[in-house]
Order: sequence, then structure tokens, then C-alpha cells
Amino acid sequence: MIQLNELVLASHNAGKLKELQAMLGDAVRVHSVAEFSSVEPEETGLSFVENALLKARHAARVSGLPALADDSGLAVDFLGGAPGIYSARYADGQGDAANNAKLLEVLKGLPDAQRGAQFVCCLALLRHAEDPLPIICEGLWHGHILHAARGTQGFGYDPLFWVAEHDCSSAELAPAEKNQISHRARAMRLLKQRLGL
Ligand code: IMP
Repeated sequence: MIQLNELVLASHNAGKLKELQAMLGDAVRVHSVAEFSSVEPEETGLSFVENALLKARHAARVSGLPALADDSGLAVDFLGGAPGIYSARYADGQGDAANNAKLLEVLKGLPDAQRGAQFVCCLALLRHAEDPLPIICEGLWHGHILHAARGTQGFGYDPLFWVAEHDCSSAELAPAEKNQISHRARAMRLLKQRLGL
């Protein structure tokens, strides 16, 4: 089992850092990669895992510390996994509302049985920049894409993502509830298990 008391998170997002620190507890000190470099690597991978790995490798290289990166998005079955790694910029960088409008348009008229989708979160942890044996944890959250937006909580594709177990969209879930069952929560739980935390 890998022993960690310090790691760098390959993200410039202060919210993600806080969330991760809370989840890992006091035993692990979490730094932001922003403490070491302002350069963000180009996400040239074709899959979540490739992009998570290249971000983690960059963070390990610039910090000299073990590094964790995440990559997440929405994969729609009917679209062969699109928007996938391009989820944030599906509508050419015009933002969440435009992304959602584009997805609704592309799936227009498609019956419920063909609207299956999953949110995906891939975490990659490297002990050092040349680590040949990264820890990869993937969390999948299955649902389907609604015909119209519902709910005001959350972000991104939450208003279009139907969560059958709770009979609501993920934008209608209380944030604390979403944080228990989401793709990120699932991936994090797996990572904690791997770290013995
Ligand atoms: P990031 O990995 O946090 O940058 O997320 C990539 C993109 O995937 C976001 O900009 C959203 O469009 C989408 N996404 C990831 N996680 C969620 C979620 O929990 N709800 C809604 N959209 C999400």
C-alpha cells in the first residue's frame, strides 16, 4: 500500500483543493500545483484516463511531490461517449447553457430507452513523475438524459441528468446528497480504499 503524507493536486481550482483536503483528512497535506507552476499542460489525450495521467505527470514533475489529477465529464451512450473529454467545451466554449442546448438538440426525439449516459470521474495518482504504476480510480454515475432541463442546483449538465434512484435530475438533488452518490464521490471512495484511509 502506498503511504502518503503530502501530495500535489493538478488543479488551479481552489474549490477542488478544499474538497480534496476535506476528503483525505489531516493525515495528508494537499498542495495546489499553482504553488509550483502557472503553466497548465495541454490536454492532448483522447480519453479521461489519458488526460488525468498527463496532468498528474506534469504536476509531479514541477513539484517533486506525489501528484493527483482528475478528469471528468459526461459520456452519452447514443453518441459513442461524446461529449466525453470535451464536455466543458461541447458548444465551442460558450458555457453550460449552450452545452446543454446543444445536447438536447442532438438527442431531440430520441426515446428514453436510448438516452442512457454516465458522468465519469477519473483520478490518477502518481508517486513521482516517472511512476510506471499509477493508481487509477474511475467513478461512473449512470442515468439518462432528459428531454428538457430540470432543477437549479449543481452545474454543467446536472439539469439534464436524470437520477432514477432519487426520481429527480441531479440539479434537483441537495448538494450534500449529490456529493454522496456522484461520479466524483465514487472515484474518491475507491482512492481512499487504495490508500488505506
Ligand atoms: P472538470 O473535469 O471538473 O473540468 O469537468 C469537465 C466538465 O464535465 C464540466 O465543465 C461539466 O460540463 C462536466 N461535468 C463534470 N462533472 C459534472 C457534474 O457533476 N455535473 C455536471 N456536469 C459535470
